[in-house]
Amino acid sequence: HSLFSAVPAAPPDPILSITAAFRADPSPKKVNLGVGAYRTDDGLPYVLPIVRQYERHFANDHSLNHEYLPQDGLTHFTVHSARLMFGKHSAPLNDNRVVTVQALSGTGALRIGFAFIATFLGQRLVYVPNPTWSNHRNVVPHAGLPPTRTYRYFDAATCAVDIDGLLADLKAAVPGSIVIFHGCAHNPTGADPSREQWKQILQVVKEAALVPFFDNAYQGFASGDLDTDAWSTRLFADSGIEMFVAQSYAKNMGMYGERVGALNVVLSSSSSVDIVRGQLKRLIRATYSSPPLHGARIAAAIMSDEHAFRSWQTELRTMSERIRNMRTRLRDCLVANGAPGNWDHIVKQIGMFSFTGLNAEQVRFIRSKYHVYMTLNGRISMAGLTEATVQYVADAICDAVK
Ligand code: PLP
Repeated sequence: HSLFSAVPAAPPDPILSITAAFRADPSPKKVNLGVGAYRTDDGLPYVLPIVRQYERHFANDHSLNHEYLPQDGLTHFTVHSARLMFGKHSAPLNDNRVVTVQALSGTGALRIGFAFIATFLGQRLVYVPNPTWSNHRNVVPHAGLPPTRTYRYFDAATCAVDIDGLLADLKAAVPGSIVIFHGCAHNPTGADPSREQWKQILQVVKEAALVPFFDNAYQGFASGDLDTDAWSTRLFADSGIEMFVAQSYAKNMGMYGERVGALNVVLSSSSSVDIVRGQLKRLIRATYSSPPLHGARIAAAIMSDEHAFRSWQTELRTMSERIRNMRTRLRDCLVANGAPGNWDHIVKQIGMFSFTGLNAEQVRFIRSKYHVYMTLNGRISMAGLTEATVQYVADAICDAVK
């Protein structure tokens, strides 16, 4: 008899379990479109040249050490991170009413943010878009809040944001609730509200007294432009409301495994900055004590040097262009194959993923017959496609929908 015999098995993660199944598949034809990480046109992981350059530089700098960071992280990093998110002309930053703490990438920023909410702002409801990144539904209750509720987000008929449903659901939400928004490149649908729609959403958020929590995991990676992808977050932050913003440097700097991110809390007045920072530090201290140094040091170096920053911008454009190119190639292959239906949504969507419209049965068929792996909701990672595989994947999809 073991102490652990009563521990139930964990349900498989809908995203991570795909990679496990892909690895176990011996077929030479296999293609992994489940992974949420950038791949080159050779299908390989990519280290940004500017990141490599700083890694070499730091490895040779013997004045550096591996001392602990403070609980809220590397100041050089958090200062630049907040500027990157909120922009040069940010009202809340200029008023000194943003608290930024380093976090364990985007997930860690969400987790600490929701733990803060659960501890100090009470048992509030959290609304997430339907559908959303599956981990939102894990993080929120794990941080001590009630299970998430959803608001309408996606219109399958038009493959676009269901703005009327979204606004109606937010209007009907319990006042004081938290609402998660994907700042750009909504995962999994790849459909974002237009700027006009974001303004309508802001209006409703204010009227319904909701608290936005922006999850911005793809800044610069989505459109190739850091400011464009920050637009919605800045619209809200500059409007004078209080809100939370999670940042991740996993995708835009390709530092997935280094866990580089930040949590920002935008306050209405600078008088509570020290108190909020103090409580966030205390939460971090009790959770993992202090964040990792390596990635934050690199991110800070890139963001603070004009020349390095320009190289980074070029690399962001290259990555996002490859993804856009794959969207066009996949759509064109599907059309050339005579796949029934309209595939323009693949080109209209933005970010790492495309929501193909394939159902679970079709996904399973493609997996067993073609060894092409994607999540059961029909989401494919565009970065997983290459010139060498796009036709094969189009053939598989065509076979499934015919
Ligand atoms: N939020 C969304 C919507 C995501 O898609 C991701 C990554 O897939 C994240 C947050 C967080 O990723 P990480 O914790 O690696 O920064």
